[in-house]
Amino acid sequence: MRRYSAFAIAREAFRNHSGWERAWSAPEARKKYDVIIIGAGGHGLATAYYLGKNFGIKNVAIVEKGWLGGGNTGRNTTIIRSNYLQDPSAAIYEKARSLYETLSQELNYNIMFSPRGVMMLAQTHHEVRGFQRTVYANNLQGVKTEFISPERVKELVPIISLDGPRYPVLGALWQARGGTARHDAVAWGYARACSDMGMHILQRTEVSAIHQSKGKVTGIQTNKGRISCGKLAVVVAGHSGHLAEMAGFRLPLESVSLQALVSEPIKPCMDVVVMANTVHGYMSQSDKGEMVIGGGADGFNSYTQRGSFHHIEETVRALIETFPMISRLKMLRQWGGIVDMTGDRSPIISKTPLGNCYFDCGWGTGGFKSIPGSGWAMADLVANGEPGPLAASFGLNRFREGRFIDESVAAGVAH
Ligand SMILES: Cc1cc2nc3c(=O)[nH]c(=O)nc-3n(C[C@H](O)[C@H](O)[C@H](O)COP(=O)(O)OP(=O)(O)OC[C@H]3O[C@@H](n4cnc5c(N)ncnc54)[C@H](O)[C@@H]3O)c2cc1C
Repeated sequence: MRRYSAFAIAREAFRNHSGWERAWSAPEARKKYDVIIIGAGGHGLATAYYLGKNFGIKNVAIVEKGWLGGGNTGRNTTIIRSNYLQDPSAAIYEKARSLYETLSQELNYNIMFSPRGVMMLAQTHHEVRGFQRTVYANNLQGVKTEFISPERVKELVPIISLDGPRYPVLGALWQARGGTARHDAVAWGYARACSDMGMHILQRTEVSAIHQSKGKVTGIQTNKGRISCGKLAVVVAGHSGHLAEMAGFRLPLESVSLQALVSEPIKPCMDVVVMANTVHGYMSQSDKGEMVIGGGADGFNSYTQRGSFHHIEETVRALIETFPMISRLKMLRQWGGIVDMTGDRSPIISKTPLGNCYFDCGWGTGGFKSIPGSGWAMADLVANGEPGPLAASFGLNRFREGRFIDESVAAGVAH
C-alpha cells in the first residue's frame, strides 16, 4: 500500500491524480478462512485489524451485506468520551479513546480526531450529584474529568442560555480530551489497513445461515455461496438478534431506531460537544458548519433505518430551551440507525453456546467511541478463545448471574 503524505499529494497534483491506488481491494471470496467476521462496521473492521496486528491472524474475511461503514458506523453523531461510571466500562472506553488519539498516524489515514472536549450539562440537582459521583469514580479509574461551574460552562459555550425556563444549567461534567472523529474515515482507515494485510472485505455479501456441526460453526451461507471458517465473529449491532437466531440461541437485546439530524451550515459558533441529558438532546458543530444534533431512540422495536418527524420536533424543542439561537436554524436532513440495547446498557463481548463463535454487540447508542477498544478486546477473545482483561466483565454469563454493569444513567439518552 502506498502511504498517504503531503509529498504524495504534491506528486499526484503534478500527475493529474492518476497514481492513486484503490484504498481497499474487491476480491472474490476464498472457499475457507481462518476467521470470518460478519459485519463491516467500525467494530468488525477494528476486530479484523487487531487480529492481524496483535496476533498475526491475517487469513480473515469481513463479510458485509451492504457497503462497509453503511450501518450505524456511518450514521452516528461521532461523540467520543470515556467518562463512564463503572470500572469495566471506563477501562474499555478509555482504552478506545486513547487509541483514537494516535489512530490517524497508526492507520496513515486522517480520521479527523478532534479532542475538542465533551460537556454533559447538569440541569437538575440529581444530575449534579450524579456527575460529581462520576468525577470521583473517573479520578480513581485514571480517566481525567472534572465538574465545572455554570460560569465556566458559559465561557466554553457562549451560545448557551444558563437560565433555561425549566432547567437552568447548574454545572457540567467536562472531559477535555473527549471529542469527535470523522465516522466514515474510521471505517475507511481500518478497511484500508485490513486490505493491506491481505484480508478480504466482501461487500454486498449477506449472511443467511450459519452452518454448524458438533457444537461448532463450520461456515456461513451467503447470497454468493457457502464459505467455510475456523472461527466466526459476529459484529452486526442492531442485527445481532437476527444472527443469533441463525446460530440457534437468543441474546438479551432489543433493536430500536435511534435518530439524529443536522442543520444547514452556519459560521463557527460552538467548538465543544454539549450533551443535555435532562431535556434529551445533544449538539456539536461539524467542520462544514452544520449543527449535528442527536435525539432519542424510538420507544418501540424496529429495523427501519429511518427518521421520523416527531423526533425532529421533540429534539429541537428540547434543545431550544438551552440554545435559543437554534430556533432560527433550518434543518437539512435526518436519519436513523438500528441500535442494539441491552438491559444494563453495557456491551456484550462474549463466547457463545457454539464453541468457535463469538459475539460483539450491545453497544446501543454509544458504540462509535468504543470502536478501537472493542476491536482490540474482541480480537483478543477470537484469537485466544477466552476474553482478556478488557472484555472479561462483558460476557453473556453476566445476565444469568445477575452481575450487571449498570450504565443506564450514562447511556440512557446520550452518546
Ligand atoms: C443516530 C445515531 C447516533 C449515534 N451517536 C453516537 C455517538 O455520538 N457516539 C457513539 O459512541 N456512538 C453513537 N451511536 C452508536 C454507534 O453508531 C454504534 O454503536 C456503532 O456504530 C456500532 O458499530 P458496529 O460496527 O457494531 O455496527 P454497524 O456499523 O451497524 O455495522 C454492522 C454491519 O453489519 C452488517 N450486517 C448486518 N446483518 C448482516 C448480515 N446478515 N450479513 C452481512 N452483514 C450484515 C450491517 O450491514 C452493518 O454494516 C449512534 C448511533 C446512531 C444510530
